[in-house]
Amino acid sequence: MFLKNRTEPEELLILKHLNKRMELTPNDRKRLTNLQRGFEGEVQFDNLAKNIIEERYILNDLRLEVNNSELQIDSFIISQGITYLLDVKNFYGDFYIEGDQLFSIKTGEEYKNPLDQLKRSALLLRQLFNYYNFNFLIEPYVIFVNPEFTLYQAPMDHPFILPTQNNRFIRELNETPSRLNEGHKKLAQTLLSLHQPKNRFQKLPEYRYEQLKKGMLCKKCGCFFSKIDHRNLVCENCGELEKIESAILRNTEEFKLLFPERKVTTSGIEEWCRIDLSNRTFRRVLKKHYPWIGNTKDTYFKPGYN
Ligand SMILES: [Zn+2]
Repeated sequence: MFLKNRTEPEELLILKHLNKRMELTPNDRKRLTNLQRGFEGEVQFDNLAKNIIEERYILNDLRLEVNNSELQIDSFIISQGITYLLDVKNFYGDFYIEGDQLFSIKTGEEYKNPLDQLKRSALLLRQLFNYYNFNFLIEPYVIFVNPEFTLYQAPMDHPFILPTQNNRFIRELNETPSRLNEGHKKLAQTLLSLHQPKNRFQKLPEYRYEQLKKGMLCKKCGCFFSKIDHRNLVCENCGELEKIESAILRNTEEFKLLFPERKVTTSGIEEWCRIDLSNRTFRRVLKKHYPWIGNTKDTYFKPGYN
């Protein structure tokens, strides 16, 4: 049973939007690719985890603070006898391990060995369990989900679940009976209550409103909409059609995410969207969906409303 679902991390969303509206540095572009790949791997694992049966709680994407350190858990499974701390990796290509080090065969580049991160996470989680007097066993694993990942020289005693072992991991989990009690429920509730929605460590490039390209982005290909056809916007790049209302709302949400400190006003959104629609259209759509203050030509919408 999924108790906490996964959503696209805010940092990834912001970088995706910025990438369409400004020139990112090579480092930021690399970070965007890594975040995107990581998220896709986690979603792939979630699809696998849908096959988990029996009484088990699954908590995805937890961010906890333990002894002033951040503990980020991709997936946490609570079973009757054991709790599983899973770090999901979407590595692609051929890698090898030498000692404690992990290398890409193709580029020779050294990668962070996920085992170090896993050990640290398991230690922090044990400290948290001790603090709350939880007596559950923790089994930590790194789960590699990409079928095109190969790891040479992996020691057999490493807590790694390789792509060829993913299905078996779920199957063997399912073969173990599991009944949950109040203690398990309390553990799940505690972790959920400690979850920190904001990532304090996100690294965003600096950007200003003035420097970003204005316009409405197509949700399918990310190009700017230029054509209006009755009640729809038409993407001339990919042919996508979107209702004007839905496109205004989507681009308003993007504006709010990128500039949480700026006021949402009719004229502001009109400028942000920069497309040949009347001020009246913007006002009508915004008034329908956001609580508003005042009733002038430039209506101002309540801040912090989601
Ligand atoms: Zn498009």
